[in-house]
Amino acid sequence: LARIDAANKDLNAFLETTGQLALDAAARIDAAVAAGTLDELGPLAGVPVAFKDNMNLAGTHTTCSSKMLENYVSPFTATCVERTIAAGGIPLGKLNMDEFAFGSSTETSAFGPTRNPWDVTCVPGGSSGGSAAAVAAGLATVTLGSDTGGSIRQPGSFCGTVAVKPTYGVVSRYGVVAFGSSLDQVGPFARSVEDAALAMNAIAGRDVLDCTSQDVGTDFTANLAEGVRGMRIGVVPAFMEAKGLTPEVKAKVEEAAEHLRALGAELVEVELPNAQAAMSAYYVLGPCEAFSNLARFDSVRYGYCDPGHTDLNSQYEASRAVGFGPETRRRVMLGSYLLSAGVYDRYYYPAQQVRTLITQDYARAYEQVDCILAPVSPRTSFKFGEVSDPTDMYLSDMFTISINIAGNGGMSLPVGLGADTHLPVGVQLISPAFKDENMFRAAAALE
Ligand code: GLN
Repeated sequence: LARIDAANKDLNAFLETTGQLALDAAARIDAAVAAGTLDELGPLAGVPVAFKDNMNLAGTHTTCSSKMLENYVSPFTATCVERTIAAGGIPLGKLNMDEFAFGSSTETSAFGPTRNPWDVTCVPGGSSGGSAAAVAAGLATVTLGSDTGGSIRQPGSFCGTVAVKPTYGVVSRYGVVAFGSSLDQVGPFARSVEDAALAMNAIAGRDVLDCTSQDVGTDFTANLAEGVRGMRIGVVPAFMEAKGLTPEVKAKVEEAAEHLRALGAELVEVELPNAQAAMSAYYVLGPCEAFSNLARFDSVRYGYCDPGHTDLNSQYEASRAVGFGPETRRRVMLGSYLLSAGVYDRYYYPAQQVRTLITQDYARAYEQVDCILAPVSPRTSFKFGEVSDPTDMYLSDMFTISINIAGNGGMSLPVGLGADTHLPVGVQLISPAFKDENMFRAAAALE
């Protein structure tokens, strides 16, 4: 906790530490060690963990890095958080993020950006920037983030940590503040593939409080030592030729492909012909779902209440204008427009059709391969303020978004520093839905 306090002055990764809660959890571990019952505590016994600030942990603030929820104290605990603690994790605190998870740099946080531990003049990525930075700086061994379009994998790539977005439905979303309910998925950041697999074992599985969650019965550690001999790994030529992919990132993905081949995997070219429409579909579906999910922050049921108003509409308007930052307001306005009568048929409905086509593309590709190798982000981390146009920022997720659209699993594996920027680069491994163990197997071999 003292190290977090010291390092946080530079990094601003933690919004809050848990103090006594962490000390009590640690005391339980000490007692178990003394009694010789540590093994009964679970796979994360004594492991320091921390959570993105859109996850409820009873008694702590859950701000989503928004002024809207600055004073909100959770009365309950999210299932993913509860399971991490039940597995023996020591909860250290809550981590900075882009406001309501809208962004790719953690610059939209109402409480100041998190800085990248590799170079504090650079962004950590986002929206789970605090979760990535905390693991990269050694302030927690495992953290949880959420990923709607890339928000676990891209900061994982920027900070050089393993970062997993499981198949939609593998981890319960109960108690995680919703952005896009059909896209959101919780997953771990860790320093090794094995640590990430252990964390997955702790948090995965059916939860009656989230009807989209499923029991998969996967032991994520089961095939880590198997190697990739006999595995068929897909590469997507269109991804490798994408405009904006920097030469240093491209080179790292090509190196990883060669490495997998040398280890005995078969490389197969696969096409995802509709994936180039994923970005357009996402920036329709995402804002529509966000608009709907953020309606509850109305200053009456939840959130900041602007003082002095005598009628409800002006209270709503002023509270949301002050409580939400610019990117959040942009998403809400976009969603409200896209769902309005007449407009809905032209955007929302076609976006859902595109979603089906992309899902079918992946299903066809997985008839030929066990796993796909791709870039995570087109580039390494950038300087604060460097990407100021929102649509340029949205391009950060050009290789991650189609996976949320289709609902399958994806993870970022650090593969060293880029030749030009000397900043961390991650490669993405993408699994068929509910076969997340495939990407873990390939990642463990590459690690
Ligand atoms: N960067 C994307 C966005 O701004 C994805 C965010 C996320 O995955 N939460 O919407």
